[in-house]
Formats: sequence, C-alpha cells, structure tokens
Amino acid sequence: MVIGVLAVQGAFIEHEKVLDALGVSNFEIRQKKDLEQPMDGLILPGGESTVMGKLLKDLELFEPLKALIKGGLPVFGTCAGMILLADELSNDESRYFATLPVTVRRNAYGRQLGSFHTRAQMSGIGEIPMTFIRAPYVEQVHGAEVLATVDDNIVAVRYKNQLATAFHPELDDDLSVHKYFLSVCEKSVNY
Ligand code: GLN
Repeated sequence: MVIGVLAVQGAFIEHEKVLDALGVSNFEIRQKKDLEQPMDGLILPGGESTVMGKLLKDLELFEPLKALIKGGLPVFGTCAGMILLADELSNDESRYFATLPVTVRRNAYGRQLGSFHTRAQMSGIGEIPMTFIRAPYVEQVHGAEVLATVDDNIVAVRYKNQLATAFHPELDDDLSVHKYFLSVCEKSVNY
C-alpha cells in the first residue's frame, strides 16, 4: 500500500507522520513527474484552498489528479482538501476537483470561532478528537453519506472512495480516521 500526499502547500507533513506511524509507505506529490509512481490512495491536506488550487493548475497537477479521482482512486481531503473536492461552494465562486457531491461553506465558523477543538462521534469509528482551524463545513449533501456532525453542522462525509473531513485528524494523536481511509484504499486495491 502506497499513499500519495499532495505537498504543494499546507499541513502535508503531519499526514506523512501519521502514515509513517502506521507503517504505510507514502510519497509527496509536488510536481507532475511525481505522478509517475503508482498510488493506492491520495491525501489532500489542509491549508489554503485558493493557494492550493492555483498551484495545482500552475504545476499541471490539476487535470491528472482530477482524472485519477474520477477514475476511483481513493482520496481523503482534510479541511482545505474538502473544499478542493466539493462540487459546490456556497460562498465562493471557485470550484476545484468538484468530484464530491456536497455543498461546502468556506471559513464557515467565522473569525471568532475559527479554531476550536472538540470530541464527537464519527460513523464507523466512534468518538474521536476533532481539531478545527478556520474550517469549512458541509451545508448540504446531494449524494454523499454524512459520517459526523458537530452542533448540527456536517463535518465528515463519504462518497464512494472519497472521504472528507472539515477537521484535521492529522493534528491529533488518534489515528483512527487515517486507519478508516486506509481500509477504503485496501478494499479498493482488492476490488
Ligand atoms: N480556510 C481555509 C480555506 O478556505 C481552510 C483552512 C484549513 O485547511 N485549515 O481554504
């Protein structure tokens, strides 16, 4: 099992550390030639979606990655990664991969509540810590399954091989969300 981690901007090192801790091979995707190696799953980290979106296009990573995701490559987007996957943004004109059938609100908690930590249930996993940093949330699903809510706001979703969280599991010690994603990758490999 090998996981590619988009490493053009944002909190990608934290994801690599979690994968290392789980003994899972991983590599950084920084330029087009990095896509020559095969991967069983892709992680889109948190960061700034506008910056990542621009870099993806400038580095010519956007179209090949979109094709891989559309072709069924398992993908896990955290925070800005969730924004990159959403097929609709309620407060932004931009669209990125647009492969995940959800409407996402960027910076949805406003400035005051921009960053916070809580614990909540995630379907198929149990109660986990959740760290939010200027986070989006999902306002509406149109096909995706809701896996977690915090204060009635949807913060984790799944659609086929795509998993997205508004929070940052890579910043907490609990490795269960990554394990969940790896099980999606595993099933997809076997399939
Ligand atoms: N606010 C960022 C954005 O809109 C996301 C924040 C994050 O990834 N921690 O892209």
